[in-house]
Amino acid sequence: MQNCLSLNLQHRYLTRFEPKRIPHSFVDLLIVGGGIAGIRAAMATDPNLHVMVLTKDELQQSNSSHAQGGIAGVFDPTDDIAFHIEDTLSAGKEICDEEIVRMVVGEAPERIRELIAFGTHFDRENGELALTQEGGHRHRRVAHALGDATGEEIMRAMIQKVCDLSWIEIREKTFIVDLLTDDGVCRGALVWSEHGGRMFVWAKQTIIATGGAGRLYRETTNPEIATADGHAIAFRAGAEVRDMEFVQFHPTVLYIAGGSRHLISEAVRGEGAYLRDSHGERFMQDYDPAGELAPRDVVSRAITDRMTKTKHPCVYLDLSHLDSELIDERFPHIGKMCAEFGLDIKTDLIPVRPGAHYMIGGIVVDADGRTTLPGLWAAGEATSSGLHGANRLGSNSLLEGLVFGLRAGAEASKAAAAQPDSFTALPLVSDWKEEIRDDDELNLTDLRNSLTSLMWRQAGIRRNAGNLQAALEQVEFWDRYVSTREFNEPQGWELQNLLLAARLVISSAVKRTESRGVHFRSDFPETDKSQATHYRFRAEYRDE
Ligand SMILES: Cc1cc2nc3c(=O)[nH]c(=O)nc-3n(C[C@H](O)[C@H](O)[C@H](O)COP(=O)(O)OP(=O)(O)OC[C@H]3O[C@@H](n4cnc5c(N)ncnc54)[C@H](O)[C@@H]3O)c2cc1C
Repeated sequence: MQNCLSLNLQHRYLTRFEPKRIPHSFVDLLIVGGGIAGIRAAMATDPNLHVMVLTKDELQQSNSSHAQGGIAGVFDPTDDIAFHIEDTLSAGKEICDEEIVRMVVGEAPERIRELIAFGTHFDRENGELALTQEGGHRHRRVAHALGDATGEEIMRAMIQKVCDLSWIEIREKTFIVDLLTDDGVCRGALVWSEHGGRMFVWAKQTIIATGGAGRLYRETTNPEIATADGHAIAFRAGAEVRDMEFVQFHPTVLYIAGGSRHLISEAVRGEGAYLRDSHGERFMQDYDPAGELAPRDVVSRAITDRMTKTKHPCVYLDLSHLDSELIDERFPHIGKMCAEFGLDIKTDLIPVRPGAHYMIGGIVVDADGRTTLPGLWAAGEATSSGLHGANRLGSNSLLEGLVFGLRAGAEASKAAAAQPDSFTALPLVSDWKEEIRDDDELNLTDLRNSLTSLMWRQAGIRRNAGNLQAALEQVEFWDRYVSTREFNEPQGWELQNLLLAARLVISSAVKRTESRGVHFRSDFPETDKSQATHYRFRAEYRDE
C-alpha cells in the first residue's frame, strides 16, 4: 500500500519570467548536479547528443567530494553478495524495495571496478583492495581511498574523465531555479548565474542529481550546497516525493563550539575506536549488543540519551588504544582536521555528537531513475529509489549514485535520442500574479538560522506529535510570507526550497505514527507493522 498525500503550494514557479526577455539555450539532455550521480549520468550519455551539466557552485563542491569512509561492494571471497543484500534489507526495516537492493548490490563490484578504470586509486593491501567494516555490515566490504578521503579521490578521477568528453558542456556556478513544464511534461529549466542572469535551458530530457538536504538542520555534516533544491524543484514541477521523514543523523560529528561540523567517519569505530561519555565510561553495550558498531540510528539515539543523562553537550571518541601506524595510515584527513583544533587523535579524546547527514527520502524513481513526471529523471541522494528503506547502510549511497546515475544517464539519453532533432521554445508563462511585497526587508540569514534550529529541536533525532505539530505551524507561517516574495538570487530561492523541504519532512513525520529506522517518535516508540509502507506527497496548487 502506498499513501499519496497532497501538500498545498501557492506558486508553481518561484519567480516571474517573460520568455521574450530571457535568453534561450537548447540541449538534448540537461543534468542538474555534478556529484557522483550527475557525473556518472553524464558519462553514460550518447556522444551524439549535446549534454549540459549544471552545478550551483564549483564542480568540486558536493557531498560526494566530502565522502570519507568509502563505497560498499563484495570483493572478499569469504563475503557474499547475499550477505550485503541481507545487511541492506535489515537496516531498511521492512520498507526497502528488495528488487532494487538486489540490483544495486549485485552491480556494486562492476561499478567499483569501473571507478578504478576511470583512474580512482583505492587503498590497497598486498595488491588487493583494502576493505574496512562499518556499522550494520557483517563483513569488511568498504573500499576506501586516500585513507579517509574516498569521495575526493573518486570525484577527482571522474571529473578528470568527464572533462575530456567533448559532447558534455559543464556550467559551474549556475543555479537551477525551477523546472519548466508544459502539459505535464518536463521541458528543461529556468536557470540563473551571476554573470548571465536568468536563462531558459530547453531540454528534451532532464536529470535531477542535486544531492541532499542536510542544511535543513543546525547540526549537519553536509556542505553548503545541500539545501534540498532538487527535492523542492521537482516537487513544485509535479514529481512525487516520498519517505521524507527518514533523515539519517550521523552519530559522530566533531563538536567544537563555534567550529564547523566535520564528520568523524564511522570507519574510525570500524577500526575499533570506543565511545565514552563525559565520565569516561563506555556506554554503547548498554544500548545494543553490537556496541560501537550498532546501526547509526541506534548510536545517534544512544549518544543523545547519554548527553541528556550526563548533562554534557557531547560524548567522546577514544582511539588511544589503537595502533598508531594504523591511525596514520587510515585516518590522515581526520587527524589533520582535528590537529587544526589542537587535538591529537592518537592520544586525546575527540568531542563528538550527532548531526544531520543523509536524506533518505526524495523524488520517487523506478529502477532506471524515471520519476513520476514525464521527461524528468533523477539519481543519487535527491531520490528515493527503494534501496535504503527506513535507514541507509553506511557506504551504500556513493554506490546508489553510481548505479542510478549510470542507469538514468543511459535511459534519458536513449529517450532524448528518440525525439525529433529540432525543438523550439514554448510560450510558457509564470503563475505569479500579485505584486512583490517589498514593504520591509527580510533578514534571510536570521530566518534560515531560525528554521534550522527549529528543525534540529523539533524534527530531529527524537520526535513527538506536539513538537512536530508546533514546528509545522511555525514553518507554514514563515512559508506564507516568504513565498509571497520574489527573490533575485540563490539565497532567497534556497530558503524557499528549504521551507518546502521542511514542510515535507515534518508532514511525513506527523503521518508516521510509529518508530522505524531513523524515524524515532517518543510517543510511538514501537514499530507498527501496518505502517510498513511509504508516505508519498504530491503538490496541489491553491486556486487564486
Ligand atoms: C561528510 C560526508 C561523508 C560521507 N561519507 C560517505 C561515505 O563514506 N560513503 C557513502 O556511500 N556516502 C557517504 N556520504 C554520502 C554521500 O556522499 C552522498 O550521499 C552522495 O555523494 C550524494 O551524491 P549526489 O551525486 O546525489 O549529490 P552531491 O554529491 O551532493 O552533488 C549534488 C550536486 O548538485 C548540485 N546542485 C544542488 N542544487 C543545485 C541547484 N539548485 N542548481 C544547480 N546545481 C545544484 C551541486 O552543485 C552538486 O554538484 C557522505 C556525506 C557527507 C556529507
